[in-house]
Amino acid sequence: MPKKKNRFRRGFVKEAEEYAEDFRFEMDRASHEPLSALDLADFLDIPVCGLSDHPAIAESDKAFFRGPGNSLFSAATLPQGTYRSIVHNDYQHPNRQNSNVMHEIAHILLGHPTKPPLLEDSCRNFDADAEKEANHLGFTLLVPKRAALYAHEQFATVEQAAKYYGVSVPLLRHRIQITDVRRWSENRARIGTR
Ligand SMILES: [Zn+2]
Repeated sequence: MPKKKNRFRRGFVKEAEEYAEDFRFEMDRASHEPLSALDLADFLDIPVCGLSDHPAIAESDKAFFRGPGNSLFSAATLPQGTYRSIVHNDYQHPNRQNSNVMHEIAHILLGHPTKPPLLEDSCRNFDADAEKEANHLGFTLLVPKRAALYAHEQFATVEQAAKYYGVSVPLLRHRIQITDVRRWSENRARIGTR
């Protein structure tokens, strides 16, 4: 299969892995260990508020996003002076919440501008490159290459590994695939390094 053209600016994929590694190090975690978006937000002092307990959102709006509008809003980053905060739809599946909030953290880390208004997926207004970067960094923070390798080698099923990392099975499969850890694992086994 021909190699896919790198979709990112030079060095970005490596930079994303470094973010994931550095935060785990600073938070006293091994580089393969899980890192939830809420833990990272807490570490970075980024306030995160779910729709369900947001004081400024009307009950009727909450009912809408809990019910028929559930998929219409995932998360948004809000500017508060020089600070940023995240509001997210905590009526969605916990795995989705984890990746939604991590995606917003990625936008903040990358210095992407925030786009109001509230309760409209800010991501719909972003430019495509910024979205791709935030997706990639968000997924990498949740499952860096070391974690994808650990998931591949240490769990009986991808479902069990996904549960360990608090992510969906498709997200984990995607990370295992694009980090090419299967081949890495085979090479490590062949040359006897662990
Ligand atoms: Zn986005």
